[in-house]
Amino acid sequence: MKVLVADPIAEEAVEFMRKNGLEVDVKTDISYEELLNVIRDYDALIVRSRTKVTRDVIDKAEKLKIIGRAGVGVDNIDVDYATERGIVVVNAPGGNSVSAAEHTIGLILSVARKIPQADRSVKEGKWERKRFVGIELRGKTLGIIGLGRIGYEVAKRMRCFEMNILAYDPYVSEERAKSVGAKLVSLEELLKNSDIITIHVPKTKETEKMISYKEFEIMKDGVYIINAARGGIVDEKALYDALVSGKVAGAALDVYEKEPPDKDNPLLRLENVVTTPHIGASTREAQMIVGMTIAEDIVNFFKGLPVKNAVNLPSIAPEDYSYLMPFVELAEKIGKIACARLNGMFNKVKITFRGEIAKRNTEIVTRALLKGLLSQILSGVNIVSAPIVAKERGIVVEQSRIEESNVYPSTIEVTVSNDKEIYIEGTCVGEECRILKIDRYKVDFVPRGHYIISLHEDKPGVIGRVGTLMGSYNINIAGMIVGRYGKPGGIQLMLLLLDDPPSEEVLKKMVELEGIIDATYVYL
Ligand code: NAD
Repeated sequence: MKVLVADPIAEEAVEFMRKNGLEVDVKTDISYEELLNVIRDYDALIVRSRTKVTRDVIDKAEKLKIIGRAGVGVDNIDVDYATERGIVVVNAPGGNSVSAAEHTIGLILSVARKIPQADRSVKEGKWERKRFVGIELRGKTLGIIGLGRIGYEVAKRMRCFEMNILAYDPYVSEERAKSVGAKLVSLEELLKNSDIITIHVPKTKETEKMISYKEFEIMKDGVYIINAARGGIVDEKALYDALVSGKVAGAALDVYEKEPPDKDNPLLRLENVVTTPHIGASTREAQMIVGMTIAEDIVNFFKGLPVKNAVNLPSIAPEDYSYLMPFVELAEKIGKIACARLNGMFNKVKITFRGEIAKRNTEIVTRALLKGLLSQILSGVNIVSAPIVAKERGIVVEQSRIEESNVYPSTIEVTVSNDKEIYIEGTCVGEECRILKIDRYKVDFVPRGHYIISLHEDKPGVIGRVGTLMGSYNINIAGMIVGRYGKPGGIQLMLLLLDDPPSEEVLKKMVELEGIIDATYVYL
């Protein structure tokens, strides 16, 4: 598998991927045009905020399966289109929060005390002590817009400066705000009462230009504005006018609407603007954590394990991750068996989660089941695209939960149907998954390897004839389960575990044997 690292990440992360068998090309000054030319060769792409992963890039990326964003914001990636194309997008939330918060505080101190301007002046040979009079933070009000990971860390630290902290974030609880000494208020109240306003929301349709002319008007005269979130959340033109008019006393910007900003961006000419080149997350520590988080997810992904921080997959709580992982494997294998037995013909899928698993977020398990069902008949279906593909094909998916368990703490019970129907039940014991029932037949086996699943008449000689047939084709039978239902006689189910896959000819010959009703091959 080939990985392209298009923006700088920690060397340790690159080494980790190489040690895990991935071929990694590091091309951190690659241009957009070059990226369009080379992306078709890669299975994975790692970017930070510089590289834009547009629809055009994704269209050219014939083999791309996963995009890693070494950081939080994914606004430089067309996530919707990646999802449509079944490409997993992973990010590294939290890894750089403290670094970004510390940088924000550096910016607050810089504008409040005019440190960069004073530095420049001294280096120019001047000693202008009267020119650089700042404001003290103690007793002032800090308004934090967006009390997520970074906003929270900023609040936590700014309490030590004896500031009053207001926060606007409609999606966090009062308790969370209180725990960090912040008072949750409306946006208007925050704008009206803050001496310094710092922005920590993601860039979305809702937050684009959320601070513009109307908002500046409401603010106190002489307010300071800090933006280390994303360019464009603060309307640059409105900010420029507010800085020139004196409404805003100073601004600190780590981010711009266009990065790097045009040389003639008027904000760069203003003495009361302090600026840095989008380096909020640029610390050795953050790069290490973020790089390793992405590298681990990419390695996991290529090992067929679920990833931890997928943006376009349901998030799994860390405590659920190890519990659900074996069920993800089980569900996919159940899907494969059902697809094989129904010859790829199905329009309804029903999954029941029973016991402990019913209390968890099982979306990923349902996706794995759909992947198992669909990937047998369609190429390129994965856990990201499976629900979209199922919907497009008109497949009805029903899920239900029963919290009381039966014999096992957790089971999943799947019915897949069309004209015909198949029922499969399974469980996981530790990390090992087991199929317990296929239709009415108790089977209880660990699904791993080449299987023939067959219905036969429960009569003497049938199993012997199957053994002879396999022997004549030099196929070793490594295991056999005959799931009997009811009394001897009637129709029963046979499972053969083979050392090698059977050819079409062997399957055809098997069905021709006396007493054999059908035979399907599936690799689990
Ligand atoms: P987060 O998702 O943890 O927090 C964002 C918060 O914003 C959430 O609590 C959410 O409820 C809130 N929010 C969303 N929409 C809102 C709205 N309309 N009004 C008010 N609140 C809203 O994200 P984070 O990790 O704290 O990152 C915050 C921002 O910082 C993002 O834009 C991210 O891209 C940026 N960032 C910048 C740098 C840098 O180098 N400058 C580094 C890391 C992150």
